[in-house]
Amino acid sequence: MYDIIIIGAGPAGLAAAAYCLQKRLEVLVIAPDLGGKANYRLHLAGLEGFEHITGEEIVRKFRSQLQYLDFAHVRDTVKHVDAKPGAKHETFTVTTEAGKHFPSRCVILTTGVEPIRLNVTDEERSLGRGLSYSAISHAPLFWERETAVVGSGVLALRSTAELAAIAKRVLLIAPEGLADSPLKRRLAIMDNVTILEKHTVRRLHADGYLHGITIRDPGGREQEVPVSGVFVELGLIPQSEVVKGLVDLDADGYVVVDDRCRTSRPGILAAGDVTNTYSEQVLIATGEGVKAALAAYDYLLGLEP
Ligand SMILES: Cc1cc2nc3c(=O)[nH]c(=O)nc-3n(C[C@H](O)[C@H](O)[C@H](O)COP(=O)(O)OP(=O)(O)OC[C@H]3O[C@@H](n4cnc5c(N)ncnc54)[C@H](O)[C@@H]3O)c2cc1C
Repeated sequence: MYDIIIIGAGPAGLAAAAYCLQKRLEVLVIAPDLGGKANYRLHLAGLEGFEHITGEEIVRKFRSQLQYLDFAHVRDTVKHVDAKPGAKHETFTVTTEAGKHFPSRCVILTTGVEPIRLNVTDEERSLGRGLSYSAISHAPLFWERETAVVGSGVLALRSTAELAAIAKRVLLIAPEGLADSPLKRRLAIMDNVTILEKHTVRRLHADGYLHGITIRDPGGREQEVPVSGVFVELGLIPQSEVVKGLVDLDADGYVVVDDRCRTSRPGILAAGDVTNTYSEQVLIATGEGVKAALAAYDYLLGLEP
């Protein structure tokens, strides 16, 4: 029986694992990779080495600390978590896609989010080479460039505002149209912002780096527009299915946590992008992972012997 099973090995999971190991707990990390989304890096033509602190670097430090501490890591994907009643407290069984079952007193979920993709030609090839799913992270790189944001929600409006302060021009392509709001009205009067409602992106054009997009207007006419940056802000899907039914999720599927990363079920904690905590950033996920580890440690200390 493990003290703690950490599901996911992105910034939140690795930071949690490092702290759990320092507490000499029996920890198992289950994830198909090590590093999660912090493994992504954005490259732009003619611009290298802009980021002073990269997520990659921070995660590499945690990873080498874990390797030094010789931690237990199973390379697999979790299918579900089950709670088992006990005489004094519940325990949990974590089942993986390979059909393995791992028992634990406590679980920390750090499975992150998946961005909704455009599903167009050249998307995979352009990822990190002009195509981004995170304006918060990458907008500062697009100084004086031609850019586009795709999306119809608050994320897309916010990203357009952020880019408008940096880029030469921002095309906001809103496939579903935009609801009226103060931010939409503010964007509508900016000189370097063009809003295209009910337009869709048909394809990306990349030749090493992204250099254009084909957009379709509501009448079906298509045109190619030169841009060197596209921000896909269609929404994020929290990877919370493995604990669905066990803990409270909010309306968008994020795991609801309190200020100590505790979920609605004692013994299950969650950290990072998969939770309803504000904003998706490596540094935030890392801090939340540390918090979850410390809260899990307190939980274990409080269990009846
Ligand atoms: C393209 C891109 C670029 C970004 N660039 C930056 C940046 O420059 N700076 C910055 O601060 N932030 C950036 N972000 C955001 C940042 O990467 C995330 O906020 C951060 O990685 C979240 O950490 P996390 O540990 O919560 O989740 P993730 O990093 O998403 O890690 C999730 C982990 O869970 C694993 N997992 C998922 N489902 C399962 C399952 N069922 N079973 C087992 N394991 C599972 C995954 O394999 C992974 O190991 C970027 C995000 C994206 C998508």
